[in-house]
Amino acid sequence: MNKRAPTKPILPGATLGVLGSGQLGRMLAVAARRMGYKLHTYSPDQGTPTGQLADREVAAPYEDLDALADFARGVDVISFEFENVPYAATECVAQYVPVRPRGEVLHTAQHRLREKTFLREHGFPTAPWRKVNSLEALHRAVAEIGAPAVLKTAGFGYDGKGQAKLRAPEGAEAAWRAIGETEAVLEGFIDFEMEVSVVAARGLDGEFVHYGVLENQHHNHILDVTIPDAELPPELRERAVEVARGILEQLDVVGVLCVEFFVTRTGELLVNELAPRPHNSGHFTFDASVTSQFEQQLRAACGLPLGSTTLLRPAAMVNLLGDLWNDGEPNWAAALADPDVKLHLYGKAAARPGRKMGHITAFGNDRMDARARALAARARLAG
Ligand code: AMP
Repeated sequence: MNKRAPTKPILPGATLGVLGSGQLGRMLAVAARRMGYKLHTYSPDQGTPTGQLADREVAAPYEDLDALADFARGVDVISFEFENVPYAATECVAQYVPVRPRGEVLHTAQHRLREKTFLREHGFPTAPWRKVNSLEALHRAVAEIGAPAVLKTAGFGYDGKGQAKLRAPEGAEAAWRAIGETEAVLEGFIDFEMEVSVVAARGLDGEFVHYGVLENQHHNHILDVTIPDAELPPELRERAVEVARGILEQLDVVGVLCVEFFVTRTGELLVNELAPRPHNSGHFTFDASVTSQFEQQLRAACGLPLGSTTLLRPAAMVNLLGDLWNDGEPNWAAALADPDVKLHLYGKAAARPGRKMGHITAFGNDRMDARARALAARARLAG
């Protein structure tokens, strides 16, 4: 892809606007404030994880074009941290300020059919899939792809939400009902060896950086543990990075994008999902890398040079879900008994099961030591 002509960078003192108000915006706000930027957040909610650290928190619907226009007029550049922001909202604010990544990236990545079609058209490998928009289409798709398979809603799905597994073709009707009889994708079920991701960033001038290949362990479809430097043959690691580079270039991303992959038992690399923003699997970079994924998002959005992605020490990240609160407030002091443990909490008031409330990053002598320390710290929370 051609390098763009340099445009003037947006410098410290300026204001970054963020559509969305969750933990990703919160950590972006930390990065922005540290570098002397102001940050405004826009979402339907108040008292949000991002809003708690923002200079301005606007609570209005994503469909309110007047409120969006008013928000855009108060900032110098806009990014997003929530994948289900309507494309029309990005189109609206783009009339006033640059939106980075551009709204089209969000439009592609927020809808599984558009995402998979993009991947297929550009030759990026995925699990076999078929578009499904009726029970009859689902029967045909099952006949073609076989079972087991996973039926996923085309829009508004994350962390395994809007998904139903078909163990056998007979499960088609139940799966169709389970996802709410809506436009969907049927995907072949992959018996994977490992799940990995590449978190990468692309600057306004086309500069590309990445954090290597990250090993992700899921529990109940939700990310549980990330350990950088996945133990894979060097050719596979290089290929994963090249696929990620290709995707960021083809989508003309300015910002951060994460590519999630399955590594099959036969050594194939299949793209599962794209997230056009900092990703949970990149949270370790906040403590463990020279430049965090959030600072990269800020730098890219502002047209600054990207920072080094060097890992300072072996590290691992574990998520803290709301389930940890089942027996009362977790024992934070116990988790921090290991001085190489860093605690992040997102300021969410209600701890619901499965809700991402925070994470722990631990350092270690090597990656598995770091993983063990992160898991041990989390186990102490319940003690
Ligand atoms: P997703 O929301 O599509 O990223 O799915 C969440 C998790 O469900 C993935 O990280 C996998 O652990 C599992 N999963 C999703 N799709 C498949 C598939 N086609 N084959 C096997 N496991 C899957």
